[in-house]
Amino acid sequence: MAVATRLRPFGSTIFTEVSARALEVKAVNLGQGFPDFEGPDFVKEAAKAGIDHQSNQYPPSMGIPALREAVAARFEAQTGRAVDPNRQVTITSGCTEALAASFLGLLEPKDPVILLQPWYDCYPVGCALSDAAPRYVTLRPPGFRLPEAELRAAFEDGARAIVINTPHNPTGRVFSRSEMDLVAELCVAHDVLAFTDEVYEHIRFDGVPHRSLAAWPGMWERTVTMSSVGKSFSVTGWKTGWAVAPEHLTAGVRAAHQFLTFTTPNPMQYGTAAALSAPQEYFEGLQSLYTARRDLLAEGLDRLGFGVYLPQGTYFLMADHRPFGFGDDISFVHHLIEEVGVAAIPPSVFYDDPADGAGMVRFAFCKSEETLRAALERMEALRR
Ligand code: PMP
Ligand code: GLN
Repeated sequence: MAVATRLRPFGSTIFTEVSARALEVKAVNLGQGFPDFEGPDFVKEAAKAGIDHQSNQYPPSMGIPALREAVAARFEAQTGRAVDPNRQVTITSGCTEALAASFLGLLEPKDPVILLQPWYDCYPVGCALSDAAPRYVTLRPPGFRLPEAELRAAFEDGARAIVINTPHNPTGRVFSRSEMDLVAELCVAHDVLAFTDEVYEHIRFDGVPHRSLAAWPGMWERTVTMSSVGKSFSVTGWKTGWAVAPEHLTAGVRAAHQFLTFTTPNPMQYGTAAALSAPQEYFEGLQSLYTARRDLLAEGLDRLGFGVYLPQGTYFLMADHRPFGFGDDISFVHHLIEEVGVAAIPPSVFYDDPADGAGMVRFAFCKSEETLRAALERMEALRR
């Protein structure tokens, strides 16, 4: 086995494995989170115009000015803080690269990093790449709330950084004001950095607001705020993201970014700048589209007998599969793909102890209504 020791435990991602098998057996794919519909024309046109009328050579390493300005404007609208697009905004190849650059550019070997579990898969890998030491704090169903005592204990044990993803994949939680208060209080008290992953910032339901930790008192100077264009504009393949942070943290992000990718494809940066200038109605439309899809899936799963944990944000829904009598999520998902013809994600792979996720299954609803209906129809077989 030639894979380096630090990456050997991770194998290939669950998203790749499930999507590949879904294609082979022609399962309806509610596994990997990518829309099966197109992003808006004005965004695609702007990227095409980028190819035709702008440069196809290397953009600046930190990103094109138009996009850095658009990111700064959105950040100010969200947090009330004006940021300097030249010194505090970095364009990256997706939020994934922004996260990797934060881990590699700001952590020292053995630095303890608090990760909430279930996690998004690249956080533990970020720890492994940077030789940092993950410490896990568990969000438990049905509420998936931040467990205060456990979180306090993790900070008291000593931490250099915490990763906060809200809206949260895979639980669909949007952390409340009081949960964010707690995280901010602990970060300030223990002098801990926050890496925030806000890629689902625009996908929320029932009027729940998005909260950026950088807006909390004492947090700007210790937070790297990260997001990307993929989810909000249904262009997950564009892999264009950003990191907003004060200069001393931006220095670390850029130090790693310039050698990870150096820069991000020029046309996608033009397309993303246009996307971020979308009117408010665009985001309202996105929210009503996803509210309808969430409700369609949630009602259908409930009728079939799943226990549904209704998400407040993201395009994922966690459900309790135990009424169907399978031993764990791996065997349930195996049955679902191979016998029922529907692909989903087994969330136990997002926990240090797989037993914590074994009773649940994750479905993605960033799919057309037709796709969701087809999946629900196939799952009627679970009742027989
Ligand atoms: N963070 C979370 C929580 C995600 O679900 C995803 C989706 N792939 C990413 C980061 C990666 O975003 P990007 O495609 O912009 O790298
Ligand atoms: N974020 C997507 C999900 O959670 C997957 C992205 C990927 O395939 N790496 O399904």
